[in-house]
Amino acid sequence: VSASADSPSSSGEVIENVVIIGSGPAGYTAAIYAARANLKPVVFEGYQMGGVPGGQLMTTTEVENFPGFPDGITGPDLMEKMRKQAERWGAELYPEDVESLSVKTAPFTVQSSERKVKCHSIIYATGATAKRLRLPREEEFWSRGISACAICDGASPLFKGQVLAVVGGGDTATEEALYLTKYARHVHLLVRRDQLRASKAMQDRVINNPNITVHYNTETVDVLSNTKGQMSGLLLRRLDTGEETELEAKGLFYGIGHSPNSQLLEGQVELDSSGYVLVREGTSNTSVEGVFAAGDVQDHEWRQAVTAAGSGCIAALSAERYLTSNN
Ligand code: FAD
Repeated sequence: VSASADSPSSSGEVIENVVIIGSGPAGYTAAIYAARANLKPVVFEGYQMGGVPGGQLMTTTEVENFPGFPDGITGPDLMEKMRKQAERWGAELYPEDVESLSVKTAPFTVQSSERKVKCHSIIYATGATAKRLRLPREEEFWSRGISACAICDGASPLFKGQVLAVVGGGDTATEEALYLTKYARHVHLLVRRDQLRASKAMQDRVINNPNITVHYNTETVDVLSNTKGQMSGLLLRRLDTGEETELEAKGLFYGIGHSPNSQLLEGQVELDSSGYVLVREGTSNTSVEGVFAAGDVQDHEWRQAVTAAGSGCIAALSAERYLTSNN
């Protein structure tokens, strides 16, 4: 194992120091740190979003809470800067999906659509995907009324001072609803069941908040728009009576959970019951030595660009330490 360059095995094939999978804030930050440590990281950026690297922030407009940009920065601009920074330090970037990997024996094997790479360590940073309701007009209003992140979008001019709705009955949805009361005129919480699933403390906070109305047994059917094509409300259905009603709302926030993109690790690395990669607390170490996880794929709680970047840093420094100690 070499901490300064990729190394040939006894059979002469090249074994990379570290392969990074993912091109979100976690993947690129890991790439910057690993490249600056002279590890010559190989990064598989992914092709799922039509070949566009950069992860979830490519689907948003303004990012107002990433430190260093007092006037905000668009998601695509921020990710392009991170990409350039990784490239500048010598990270090797491939715009390909990893299709399979094996971490059962070292060196590990990573197979993309175009190439097979052997490596001593892996940083897994494939992110998570917000679950969607798949409403008929969802694509039309995605980022134009529908959002999956209250912390990211709640303060935007589109939603400030408006009546908003949150869908879901668990901790995520109740937290989103409470957070949105800081900005919204009123918040409706739309719950399919006849009760909330959130913790008792969160339930109490929601139920006792005069700015939140909870609608039980309620299914969201579709988005309604005004004559200017803007979101104006929601079509709802009562699950107990079948009755359909309209609700005024300028925004709809999904609080129905995320799916971590951890499929490639299934059966090889320990995952929790929701599929998040389990890391030892305060580290990025997975259950397999030499395999590190960073960003949303191992974080069901914070899911922010800056926390993803921070964990990418930890993963790269941990990989460097691992490679050095196994040298
Ligand atoms: P991601 O950004 O999800 O990136 C994962 C990467 O892995 C992608 O590039 C994907 O293509 C790649 N990948 C997946 N599978 C494979 C594979 N098999 N092979 C190769 N590559 C693969 N956070 C904020 O802090 N501020 C905001 O304002 C903000 N706004 C947001 C707006 C929206 C609409 C969304 C959806 C999220 C927002 N977030 C925001 C959250 C933030 O985007 C995420 O927390 C962050 O992007 C997570 O980074 P990540 O690197 O873990 O994963």
